[in-house]
Amino acid sequence: MSIQSLIPKYVCDIAPYQGGKPISELAREFQLEESMIVKLASNENPLGMSPRAREVILKSIDEIYRYPDGNAFKLKNTVSLKFNLDADRLIFGNGSNDILELAARTFLKVGDEVIFSQHAFAVYSLVTQAMGAIGIKVPAHNFSHDLKKMFKAISSKTKMIFIANPNNPTGTLISKIELKSFLSKVPQDIIVVLDEAYDEYLDLENKSVSFSWLNQFPNLIISRTFSKAYGLAGLRLGFGASNPEIIHFMNRVRQPFNVNSLAQDAAVAALMDDEFVTESKILNNNGKKQLESAFNKLQLSFIPTFGNFISFKVEKASQVYEALLRSGIIIRPVTNYEMPDYLRVSIGLKEENERFIQALETII
Ligand SMILES: *Cc1c(COP(=O)(O)O)cnc(C)c1O
Repeated sequence: MSIQSLIPKYVCDIAPYQGGKPISELAREFQLEESMIVKLASNENPLGMSPRAREVILKSIDEIYRYPDGNAFKLKNTVSLKFNLDADRLIFGNGSNDILELAARTFLKVGDEVIFSQHAFAVYSLVTQAMGAIGIKVPAHNFSHDLKKMFKAISSKTKMIFIANPNNPTGTLISKIELKSFLSKVPQDIIVVLDEAYDEYLDLENKSVSFSWLNQFPNLIISRTFSKAYGLAGLRLGFGASNPEIIHFMNRVRQPFNVNSLAQDAAVAALMDDEFVTESKILNNNGKKQLESAFNKLQLSFIPTFGNFISFKVEKASQVYEALLRSGIIIRPVTNYEMPDYLRVSIGLKEENERFIQALETII
């Protein structure tokens, strides 16, 4: 008997997610000191976490023997107040990846079609495939979502559309006007999942106003994360906002205790620490300028970014990636995003960016 014969073909066909290489792994591979390694591979917050969140985590640690609040009451109320959303429009996830997966598990069945863009976040195709649904990958336009083509890709089988705004790994942004007009055209029996993992990094003029669209578009699910600007990637926390009926059914497939108690408590504190998010954003803007001017100096082209990372073009990208690893610098290859000539670097602390730039200069 072969185990594989027991597994649905669509599960066998899933290509594993390739994350950023962990620091400990590189240290083992090349016998490097962990403290000497710079990781700019997973769009983490180089400032770490909000000091207020840290304080709360230390205080909450003794409660770990108890199950967490399966309804995340306190966190839900905090998010509800902060974003002016009714509590019954909210659902929390073990990372926003959990929200993306819950959306897929709630709505998709074998044979449904799911539309997403070329170069879009890898998780969309993973959760689609895991349900036996069919991913329809629409060619990008200048690395950005081509909403016109995505609209044309809609068929009678289309059940869901994923949009990342800003997108990872390209850093591109769709304007609010374009996005809203797209939503107005999409039939409301198609679920649109709008992934706003990097919204905190946007300037005021570009910041999403999608929460205010929820009334008008009952088919809209918005996802947000605490992994990026809030600096809590290791705790795993994200949330979804949608119409109460969708939330109700997503809760049916949600694991009862999917969000741990430390994450819930830390997030409440992090949400109240606007200062930390502002500081993170300023650091990111400065780091962006620093990296952009280095790329210009090295005559490397890059995709202008709205996130906390930049994808840049370089000859022999995979060799450059390997050479950077040997210098103790971890960035991210994006071959699996159909961008074999590009590498993605997360924007770090000034010194981290500098080490990356210096290493890159000696390699290329
Ligand atoms: C990083 C990222 C996320 C966040 O995932 P979590 O599960 O919340 O850590 C979601 N979407 C995109 C596009 C991302 O780049």
